[in-house]
Amino acid sequence: MKRLRYCDVCNSYTMKEIHCNKPTRSAYPAKFSPEDKWAKYRKKARGLA
Ligand SMILES: [Zn+2]
Repeated sequence: MKRLRYCDVCNSYTMKEIHCNKPTRSAYPAKFSPEDKWAKYRKKARGLA
């Protein structure tokens, strides 16, 4: 599965790990991670939140 990445040097999206001779970063902010979201709901459902 390909993940979209972002190049801070030229401010564009790319699929490459390296762009403009610099490592790219994930295009998806960590706070929007689906895993975190569902973990929270699971905790709530079990009364652990
Ligand atoms: Zn670039």
